[in-house]
Amino acid sequence: MAVSRPVIVAGNWKMNSTPESAGSLATEIAAATEVSGVTRVLCPPFVCLVNVRDALVGTNVEVGAQNVHWEAAGAYTGEVSAGMLAGLATWAIIGHSERRRDQGEDDVQIGRKLVRCIEAGLRPILCVGEQLPEREVGRAEATVQGQLEETIAEVARLGAVLPNDLVIAYEPVWAIGTGRTARGSDAAAMAQHVRSTLAAAGISAERVPILYGGSVTSAAIDEFLAEPDIDGALVGGASLKVDEMAGIVARAGLTAAARQAA
Ligand code: PEP
Repeated sequence: MAVSRPVIVAGNWKMNSTPESAGSLATEIAAATEVSGVTRVLCPPFVCLVNVRDALVGTNVEVGAQNVHWEAAGAYTGEVSAGMLAGLATWAIIGHSERRRDQGEDDVQIGRKLVRCIEAGLRPILCVGEQLPEREVGRAEATVQGQLEETIAEVARLGAVLPNDLVIAYEPVWAIGTGRTARGSDAAAMAQHVRSTLAAAGISAERVPILYGGSVTSAAIDEFLAEPDIDGALVGGASLKVDEMAGIVARAGLTAAARQAA
């Protein structure tokens, strides 16, 4: 069956770049990745958002934040709310495993962040993924299902509905920044499980793009793009390298063209 979901490549720059360097990096990536049919998103650090936004004027590369707080405003020193991103970003990464690990974020907080994104009109990329021991004991799917169910339950508890433009990033934690990738077939099996979990919660899962993330490079991405259930990539380290982004988006463009032709 033909796949009509968009192909998306999002770059998560993590805690890299400066306001001085970010604009030119964004400009170079935008110029090197002009491929039709691929939605491109760059997610720089908060302090670089304005530079990246300005550098991308006149391109169709979109800007994302790497996080938002789970409250709309208040006494949360050092935090940034979804509403504060108006005019700066149109996407936000939510529930990245580095924040789950380093800031102890849980699925309830992540559900609240999703609601804040909905209120602020930010398109969320919700990250889920298992730790290596969970995969080794055969609990990878149960772990991801639990993350999704708890997050969705919190969204519902707050009286919100998941947005139509939700994007999921399946990122096995053991593959992030390690140089080790999942197998394409395992990522596809997980994507199918994610869609079953979403469908069981009443969501039109066939419309939800699912990205793979975890040590994606231009040399490693084909295995994932070959899977009809995978709709692109969330790229960390390689998204700081212009040549790598050029190669990744070029390959994603082939998938987008094949989908359009089907
Ligand atoms: C990420 O930051 O979401 C990520 C997948 O990082 P890396 O590509 O460096 O593994």
